[in-house]
Amino acid sequence: MLSAAELARVRADFPLLEREVHGKPLVYLDWGATSQKPEIVIDAEQDYYLTRNAAVHRGAHTLAGEATELFEGARAEVARFVGAAPGELVWTSGATAGLNLLAYAMQNATLGSGGEAARPFALGPGDEIVVTELEHHANLVPWQQLAARTGASLRWIPATDSGRLDLSVLPEVVRERTRVVAVTHASNVTGAVTDLAPIVARAHEVGALVVLDACQSVPHLALDLPGLGVDFAVFSGHKMLAPHGVGALYGRRELLEALPPVQTGGSMVEVVTMTETTFLPPPQKFEAGTQPVAEAIGFGAAAQYLGDLGMAGVAAHEHELTERLLAGIVQLPHVRVLGPTEAVDRVGVVSFEVDGVHPHDVGQVLDAEGIAVRVGHHCAQPIHRRLGVASSARASLGIASNTDDVDAFLAALPTVRPFFGLGE
Ligand code: PLP
Repeated sequence: MLSAAELARVRADFPLLEREVHGKPLVYLDWGATSQKPEIVIDAEQDYYLTRNAAVHRGAHTLAGEATELFEGARAEVARFVGAAPGELVWTSGATAGLNLLAYAMQNATLGSGGEAARPFALGPGDEIVVTELEHHANLVPWQQLAARTGASLRWIPATDSGRLDLSVLPEVVRERTRVVAVTHASNVTGAVTDLAPIVARAHEVGALVVLDACQSVPHLALDLPGLGVDFAVFSGHKMLAPHGVGALYGRRELLEALPPVQTGGSMVEVVTMTETTFLPPPQKFEAGTQPVAEAIGFGAAAQYLGDLGMAGVAAHEHELTERLLAGIVQLPHVRVLGPTEAVDRVGVVSFEVDGVHPHDVGQVLDAEGIAVRVGHHCAQPIHRRLGVASSARASLGIASNTDDVDAFLAALPTVRPFFGLGE
């Protein structure tokens, strides 16, 4: 748990949280879409441009050496944050890019790239890819497309009425020809945290790879990705206090070694002749061209910041606020939470609908009070459809959220229906 003094210090690290919206103090409850950035991250990025800007891994000059050291230091920091080795962490532009990288690399393996070593990644008719009904489109559409291109078929683990995964069907859905199980660690709609152990065990029993979308878990829970037993995982920097435009793909070392690259060109090669090329080992094999160096350095600073605070304390703090938010929102008439209403195996993402009011209107009324929530389908149409709505409003918590934020939200929400003349 963060002490009151620690939380006050944390909040002071986020200058943006001081601003007002419509003359009211900003209540930022959209951390699930993107996090605010502490000054230390902004400084790290700016300091790189002011004092060390250079092309990494290339020049013999001092600046290039310093830039490379910072860039690779950031990789080590982010890798350490999730319990991985630096060589197991590939920079991407975000989680979406990481998932597309995997899907296209598997297609390349299907076409013969990577030779014998990459054959285990090849897919064909009869093979199956398993996703879940809870997925963000980023962990659904690339697999749909890969299935369509390779002739494999797509199956999924359904969601329950309370917005969790129905694991009772696991043995039937994940079966002999399953090659990939792509699953979210925490839903960006229902907040449910996936019980990974049985999924990993079943997938590995049938020889399938487990791809974890850790976007909504890495910033909020103390995690050790290798310890979870997953084969690959993706997460985005911008959701964990880091700049936009940078993310990470974690992969078990031997898998990254065997996986063929997707983008090719400079920075990822060993020897190039007019007819042939050999590739660098991972992670560089997957990092063609100029990388988002300043953003990666900011990512490293964010991981260090969270690591210094201690993720167990961060998780406990957010858990307590989630409990407060859920306890309050379930008392409100005409409000339905889409997802578990108890703060058990759950992150602080709370989607809801207000009876008779479109989510956009809910968002606008809250915004007039300075409260920022997300509205829409949150890039997850299937789970909305499963829960009987087209869209929702969503309040999501982060490291610098406090009880005032939650209380302001809970006080403003009951004003939404009366605003539209619908009564309490
Ligand atoms: N997966 C989940 C669960 C998310 O919440 C998001 C972002 O909203 C993504 C994937 C995609 O992340 P990005 O847009 O940063 O690539």
